[in-house]
Amino acid sequence: MEKGLISVDRWSDHSQVYFLTHLHSDHTQCLSSSWTKGPLFCSRLTAKLFPFKFPNFNLSLLRILEIGSWHSVSLVSPSSGSETTVDVMAIDAHHCPGAVMYLFRGDFGCMLFTGDFRWEATNERAKIGRTMLLHALEGDRVNILYLDNTYCNPSFSFPSREAAAQQVVDIIASHPKHDIIIGIDTLGKEDLLLYISRSLKVKIWVWPERLQTMHLLGFHDIFTTKTSLTRIRAVPRYSFSINTLEGLNTVRPTIGIMPSGLPWVVKPSEGNDNPAGPPSISHHCGNKRIINGGPRAEINKKGKLRSVVRFHQYIYSVPYSEHSCFPEIEDFIKLVQPINIKGIVSSSFCYIEPLYYFGGLCGVNPSSQRLPRKSERREKYENIEAKTKSNSGSSNFTDAENRKRKIDFLGSHLRRVSILRRAQRGVKIVENDSP
Ligand SMILES: [Zn+2]
Repeated sequence: MEKGLISVDRWSDHSQVYFLTHLHSDHTQCLSSSWTKGPLFCSRLTAKLFPFKFPNFNLSLLRILEIGSWHSVSLVSPSSGSETTVDVMAIDAHHCPGAVMYLFRGDFGCMLFTGDFRWEATNERAKIGRTMLLHALEGDRVNILYLDNTYCNPSFSFPSREAAAQQVVDIIASHPKHDIIIGIDTLGKEDLLLYISRSLKVKIWVWPERLQTMHLLGFHDIFTTKTSLTRIRAVPRYSFSINTLEGLNTVRPTIGIMPSGLPWVVKPSEGNDNPAGPPSISHHCGNKRIINGGPRAEINKKGKLRSVVRFHQYIYSVPYSEHSCFPEIEDFIKLVQPINIKGIVSSSFCYIEPLYYFGGLCGVNPSSQRLPRKSERREKYENIEAKTKSNSGSSNFTDAENRKRKIDFLGSHLRRVSILRRAQRGVKIVENDSP
């Protein structure tokens, strides 16, 4: 595809049309209420939620794409001035409310941008998405797959969200006298909260802005902002911390549950040799433990992480993920048979380079896809971090997001991962994206 035609989840470049996969902040960097660069395509549900995140946005720029229908977009070639047509289909990404992937077809061939996605084999919605995608591909291979490679490493394998939700319910039920707090984002994991509510027949507390979002999503009776009505509270992820849990436990017995695909472990703070000093949390990544001491994530004899990890006296980690795990990514790649793959999350961290693992499925020699050396990874990582830091004064963040950036709530490693994820999403689709 010629340069300057289409951008997906990238807002700083100049293109003729823009596509938004979903409303998580790492996909809306540089998008703001005053943004006026051109038509913005998204799903119907994202369009409904959009004004809540971007008040005063010029809504005449929004273009709704119905899931499963082809839509033709007329564009003008910047080089020749001639008209060209791109067909696009939105397909349910089964990630957070409104999230879609985009399949593009044109004289450039076929490109698929997954955004963030979960590809559960057993889930009905995913089965519908699979059928829709196969039908849309009509037997063609995808020339370039832009892939959610968040967990593109064989060490990341976790259960379906329904199974993980049951694990959360079991933890709550085994603590009948405890208050429960669950860390969530401003969008996503609604199905988990609904599952808990239905299973235990309880309401769930959410903060006022989140209640507004729940109402927009059509959930009117399950959620409340009155703490007296329930012992289960879903709190912003940035306020979920060891310090918070320890403080709450001086008042009432409370446990915290963090639903995440990342397995977390507790370690002493960096530079703090005192084992009694304040602990921080980092994640267990690939086959390398990033810890020097302290309680570790439980690893079973086969070397796989157990599903539920109690990594602190008051905190459980449950592998409830809205991103695909490695076996699901593999299943997806076998289905769409891409000729080339590009990860949408920086592969400089955590061995998540898709071609390293799946180059063989694309006809690329895997041995030619060496991982960056440690020093190269560090350099790339530092560049990204520096770039992100230089943007820290941007007005594009909400107050909550700015607070999230400032609060060192789970220790430096998590914050670094979050920074990296926020820094690296979205693409401007360009002509030289060939294998
Ligand atoms: Zn997301």
